[in-house]
Amino acid sequence: MPKIVELVLLPNERENQPLILQKAARLAHLKPEQVSHIEVLKSSLDARSRQAVFRVRTEVYGPGEVYVPEPAILDGFKPVDGKKKVVVVGAGPAGYFAALELLELGIKPIVLDRGNDVQLRRRDLRAIQQFGEVNPDSNYCFGEGGAGTYSDGKLYTRSVKRGNVYKSLKLLVEHGAKSDILIEAHPHIGSNKLPGVVQNIRQTILQYGGEVHFAHRVVDFILQDQKIIGVRTEHAGAGASAEWPADAVILATGHSARDIYRLLHAKGILIEPKPFALGVRVEHPQPLIDSIQYKQARREDELPAASYSLVCQVGGRGVFSFCMCPGGLIVPSATAPGEIVVNGMSMSRRDSPFANSGMVTSVEPEDLAPWAKHGVFSAMEFQAEVEQRLFTAGDGSQKGPALRLPDFIAGKLSADLPKSSYIPGLYPAPLYDLLPGFIYKRLRDGLADFGRQMRGFHTQEANVVATESRTSAPVRIPRDPESMMHPQIAGLFPCGEGAGYAGGIISAAMDGQNVARAVARMLA
Ligand SMILES: Cc1cc2nc3c(=O)[nH]c(=O)nc-3n(C[C@H](O)[C@H](O)[C@H](O)COP(=O)(O)OP(=O)(O)OC[C@H]3O[C@@H](n4cnc5c(N)ncnc54)[C@H](O)[C@@H]3O)c2cc1C
Repeated sequence: MPKIVELVLLPNERENQPLILQKAARLAHLKPEQVSHIEVLKSSLDARSRQAVFRVRTEVYGPGEVYVPEPAILDGFKPVDGKKKVVVVGAGPAGYFAALELLELGIKPIVLDRGNDVQLRRRDLRAIQQFGEVNPDSNYCFGEGGAGTYSDGKLYTRSVKRGNVYKSLKLLVEHGAKSDILIEAHPHIGSNKLPGVVQNIRQTILQYGGEVHFAHRVVDFILQDQKIIGVRTEHAGAGASAEWPADAVILATGHSARDIYRLLHAKGILIEPKPFALGVRVEHPQPLIDSIQYKQARREDELPAASYSLVCQVGGRGVFSFCMCPGGLIVPSATAPGEIVVNGMSMSRRDSPFANSGMVTSVEPEDLAPWAKHGVFSAMEFQAEVEQRLFTAGDGSQKGPALRLPDFIAGKLSADLPKSSYIPGLYPAPLYDLLPGFIYKRLRDGLADFGRQMRGFHTQEANVVATESRTSAPVRIPRDPESMMHPQIAGLFPCGEGAGYAGGIISAAMDGQNVARAVARMLA
């Protein structure tokens, strides 16, 4: 039997194969020449002490022991006959992974997305970045690959019980992601690699008999006797409409499809309000975060850009860092003209000189009394109102309203701002007046606390930029836990982050897989 051993490697030893062989052999009580194969199972960075090390769990194969690589998941795929057809609304991680799972189960997926494919989508992103023009169908949240395509591509999830994390990661590798993601404790892909992976997933869907249609916005559900039998789309741009009959519909439209929530409500299909989180994004110089986290004046070349995770309680409510992007960029993530929304992304090398992170606080129903008149949409209308107020405060562009971190805490306007990665640019704005009072006060106290938790975090060199508002869906689309169908509409399968069952790329992908299996059970 191969022996499992944990190697402790200095950053500059990580690629040193002869040394790794020696260490692994010694720990496995073998001579180096007796080792037939070393399989790395997990690698995690341990930066708790002054000298950061990598802890690498490996399987060491001795004489006569043969390592047999796992077969590819895609080897099991066969073309589908198309007798059973499922419309998948949304080509985000939930929709695309649902489509892959359907193919594996012999069912034809027809994926419809309002946005453009990854290539055309770049043009839409450039229009936001350079001219402040937001295409409401294709932007940082909408389009092929969904909100995950131009992201940091962090693949870490706490939802390990919700599905098969390994299978989702392996499928990403089989579509072009680096195999490191299978072993890293905190894997990430990066915005320069994700579009290629997403494109390869589309090729698989097409190759095995599925369909993918872009610029097709779903505008109606076709219902018959409390059962969904298809959807109607409008071609974003051309306006032509089409009907798509289906044996079932997976609705994976993400947290920003406000029109879908409104459509469900208008058709009398039950949706529920859901707590979410809202706040700001904080950006520091990356070398400063490196020096705090690695306890060194300068980061060793072999160490990754450092990250952090912060949390505290303010008045019984959580304030926490969210979607931290080391070596990343702040990006304009609005999904409609007239709103300011920011988020973070990074390239695979995470080599920008900035570190940014959302800093948010939870918004619960009791915070939303003034918005109660909006009923089930109280959280969504509150979210929209904050985003619009921040837009109106500016000059009509996507420039980010911001303050230096100490000024944000002190509640005073900054005279000027430090450099930022945010391409549309920043301007000093009174965020202490523009953000809702309860949000500002909690963030102020939370950020003050984070300065005590991380010495050096409070610096004039850090920007606070509003608004980080698309952290999760402000509405839930209920589903029966057994059948995974909407309790009122047979054949309608709410899925992913927009339905309230995922929060991140991998959990959305796993939800897509789970829902696809539920669809197959229904159609069996
Ligand atoms: C900039 C940014 C960075 C992020 N970074 C990370 C990260 O590093 N790690 C991480 O885990 N998560 C990250 N996230 C969050 C992550 O992207 C989401 O959790 C995930 O994409 C949710 O997947 P989903 O498939 O449920 O929905 P989405 O990815 O939102 O996909 C929904 C899709 O539905 C389509 N759609 C919407 N309405 C309609 C309609 N009416 N008709 C047809 N199609 C429609 C949209 O165009 C979209 O493609 C980031 C998000 C953003 C915006």
